[in-house]
Order: sequence, then structure tokens, then C-alpha cells
Amino acid sequence: MNKKGIAILGSTGSIGTQALEVIRANSSSFSVEVLTARSNAELLIRQAIEFRPKEVVITTQSLYNQVAGALRNLPIKIYAGDEALGDVVQSGSVDMVLTAMVGYSGLLPTIKAIGAGKDIALANKETLVVAGELVTSLARENGVHIFPVDSEHSAIFQCLAGEADNRIEKIILTASGGPFRGKDRAFLAGVTRQQALRHPNWSMGAKITIDSATLMNKGLEVIEAKWLFDLEPSRIDVIVHPQSIIHSMVQFGDGSIKAQMGLPDMKLPIQYALGYPKRLQSDFPRFDFSNYPSLTFEKPDLETFRNLVLAYEALEKGGNAACVVNAANEIAVEAFLQEKIGFLEISDVIIDSVAKIKFIKKPSFQDYVETDQETRRFATNMIQVRI
Ligand code: NAD
Ligand code: MG
Repeated sequence: MNKKGIAILGSTGSIGTQALEVIRANSSSFSVEVLTARSNAELLIRQAIEFRPKEVVITTQSLYNQVAGALRNLPIKIYAGDEALGDVVQSGSVDMVLTAMVGYSGLLPTIKAIGAGKDIALANKETLVVAGELVTSLARENGVHIFPVDSEHSAIFQCLAGEADNRIEKIILTASGGPFRGKDRAFLAGVTRQQALRHPNWSMGAKITIDSATLMNKGLEVIEAKWLFDLEPSRIDVIVHPQSIIHSMVQFGDGSIKAQMGLPDMKLPIQYALGYPKRLQSDFPRFDFSNYPSLTFEKPDLETFRNLVLAYEALEKGGNAACVVNAANEIAVEAFLQEKIGFLEISDVIIDSVAKIKFIKKPSFQDYVETDQETRRFATNMIQVRI
């Protein structure tokens, strides 16, 4: 059997390293063709020595010599810089690209990969948030499949197996609620970076962990769901489910609800996307109902966690609105991580950016690029003026 050739964008991160664990355990099904990272050159070098990709990209130029030096005796091409990402995803031996880098930076390589007819295993949700309409229509034109890696969207995708002819009444995205579930604004005003980085159920990269604490992650996921499953916003519900055992649900026209369940472990959605339509075997710990006497559900607190509302509003508005929200959020989260702004100010930066940046109803690719840059400039300025 031919192995499926995988390119991993962001191989040194939380999703990237777990994807390599999946591939290591299924080495007869997959070959690693491309590895890329922005930092952590040492880990990238170790990964390249183990998995022997044909190409490696380190986007930080100053780390090139370290990576190229360490791999000089291996038949691996090494590149530096962001532009290289758009080239390596098109390589002939690549069948599928796992987009596991953070934020807007995933957009261009994803578009290039789709243009070259490569299937996408999509972890980088920001790509669909920024330019969902463009990316999904390009995928349709090129006959490319986008397989969700995000656990909620993987759950929905799994619930939809065999349901192609049946109407979705609504989908119900579950949210853990993050580390600050049940807290009020007075409490949130004083929370620290360390508190926000402590997620109750998942161990993830810093940006998505902060997004989970503000509920922006769920907002981004609502937008991601709209594009992946072609649903109006009114058909996408969010329910807080602190145990993170039900990963999301689909309700059909007859009222029946299908849920996908399991212990929270990203390796499961990763391997479902890589192996689809086959379910690869795994020895991950199994869910035991007797350890969970109650699974609970509650409405999200939209007064306290404004980011979820901001994401819904951007989705309703359409055009470049979600691109603005995403860029402002990326800048605000980074500023919070650098302790330049407080937790609640993350929403303030987004609200002011949305009010300020020009709305474009039908953006071109270039419009998205400019919207992203303008919003970053505006949000960065706004933060500098405040401190
Ligand atoms: P991470 O910070 O752990 O890793 C990010 C990886 O991408 C690293 O290899 C890093 O070097 C690389 N990278 C970061 N910025 C880059 C840039 N500008 N250019 C090139 N490379 C860059 O992040 P993560 O938690 O693995 O998340 C990756 C993506 O997957 C995000 O979009 C996130 O929302 C999504 N996601 C993550 C999880 C999770 O459990 N971690 C779950 C669902 C979705
Ligand atoms: Mg998720």
C-alpha cells in the first residue's frame, strides 16, 4: 500500500508533536514529507532526524544555520523564511497538509496547498475565520477536502458520517468554559497570565489557551463551523460542558441528536483526519462511564465573556469583519501574554478595532491581507497609547 505523504506546518507545537506521535504509531500508513516550525530549532532537528522528511522549513531566518548545520549529512532540503511554506506544501510527494501553525500565518500556505490540489487536515482555525468564504470556495474548485482537526468539528464531522442526504437542524458546539467559568468581571479584571494559561482539560499552545479562557476560541470555532458545514449562524449553538467528554453534537430534522464522545485527547481527531475514512486503531485510554457519574451542561455567560458575542456579530456581518476580529484578537492576546494589557482589555481592543477598520462586503485576497495589516497596526497603536 502507498503511504500517505504528510506535510506538517508547525511540527514543534502541541498539535504538530501529537500528529507525529500518531504517525510514529502508524508508520506503515504515513510518511512525513515536510516539517516546518518557527522556533524550537532543536526539536525540529530531532524530528527531522527521526522522520526523514524531504524538506524542512524554519521560518525564523536566524535559526537557519543551526538547522542546516545539524542536518547537513542527510538528504533533506532546508529552507528559511515564511515564503518557503507556500512552496513546500506543493511538493509532489505531499498528499495532505496538516495546518498546525498559529493564527493568520496559516492562510497563505493553506491557499497554496489547496491550489496544488492537496487535501487539508485543518487545525489552524484562524484560516477559516479570516477568509472562510475564499478558502472553502477554492477547495471546492480544486476538488480538495478540508478535514477538521479541531475536536468539536471533528465530532460534528463524525456525527455526519452517513447523513449526506439529511438536513442538519442545528449543531451544538460544546465548550469547557475554560479556567474562569463561573467568574464575574470584577474577578477577571485582575487575573494573571499564569492563571489564564492553566486550562482545566486540555494542554495546548499559549494562544489557543488564552482564547479558551476568554471564550474567543469558541467564537472562532462558531465561524469555523459555519464554513466547514455551510450553516447559518442561527443554526450553530454553544453549550458549556465542563467535563469535555461530549466533543460536540448534531441535531437533525427529526429531533434526533448525535453526539461524539471520548476522553479529551487531540490525538483522536488528528488521526481521524489523517486516516479518514478509516478509523486507525489506538491504545489511548478509554472513557469509563462509571468515572463520570454526571455530565453537566450550562449556558455560556455572554455578559462576562464578550468575545463570543463579538465573534457571532462578525459572522452575521460577513465580509472582512471576522478578519478584523481575528487580527485584533491576535494582537491583544500577545499583549496580554506580555503583560501589557489586562484580561478584560482583550475585548476592548477587538471592539475598538471593529469600529475603526473599514468594512468590506466582498473582500478579495488582497483586501484580507490589507485588513489584517491595518487592524494589527491599529490595535498595536491602541495598546501603546494605553500603557
Ligand atoms: P503551538 O503554539 O503549540 O504550536 C504552533 C506551531 O506553529 C509551532 O511549531 C510553531 O513553531 C509554529 N508557528 C507558530 N507561529 C508561526 C508562524 N507565524 N509562522 C510559522 N510557524 C509558526 O500551537 P498549537 O496549540 O499546536 O495550535 C496550532 C493550531 O491548532 C492553532 O491554530 C490552534 O488554534 C489549533 N488547535 C490547537 C489545539 C490544541 O489542542 N493545541 C486544538 C484545536 C485547534
Ligand atoms: Mg476546539
